[in-house]
Amino acid sequence: MKAAALEALGRLMEGNTRFASCTGSVDGLSSRTRRLELLTGQQPFAIVLGCSDSRVPAELVFDQGLGDLFVIRVAGNIVAPSQIGSVEFAAERFGTRLVVVLGHSQCGAVLATLEELRRPNEGQSRNLRSIVDRIRPSVEGLLATPFARDLDTLAREAVRANVRASANQLRHGSETLERLIEQDGLLVVGAEYSLESGTVDVFDGALEAG
Ligand SMILES: [Zn+2]
Repeated sequence: MKAAALEALGRLMEGNTRFASCTGSVDGLSSRTRRLELLTGQQPFAIVLGCSDSRVPAELVFDQGLGDLFVIRVAGNIVAPSQIGSVEFAAERFGTRLVVVLGHSQCGAVLATLEELRRPNEGQSRNLRSIVDRIRPSVEGLLATPFARDLDTLAREAVRANVRASANQLRHGSETLERLIEQDGLLVVGAEYSLESGTVDVFDGALEAG
């Protein structure tokens, strides 16, 4: 049932292997021919909700080209109504069956949230606060666990908790997506990109589907 989604995931991971080993496609992915081909329509094979961090561009880290990925980027890969709407749009309009929530190590938005939890900052702009407020519930609980003893461990766990929370919000925060998951083979997975190694680790939601 999730065959198309798993195939798409395999394609992404192969691309990431090429990227991480520096054997990625240098050209061809954005050729003029490809651009003209896409004038008649697009059929992206995966939807990626990723962080805006300049070091984590989805097309590059998965070594994909024009028309391959439907990408939504927002600081901290948070899920607000416009992100859900974007995923619904792509899943319904293009029949895309895989959604990847892509967090990453050393995420500034997650670190800012941890900082805010330890030292509340009244002066923060309302807009920035709206991002921190969406990350806060998933990481707050970690402060009471042994992870909190070490800042690096805490940050690492917080990135993953935030990815899991976003993936769950996509799975359960929309009737449209819930229906596509139950009846139409849509798969939502959570992954973390390592700035250090260049590799993506899919740690949430993929095993159950395979
Ligand atoms: Zn980030």
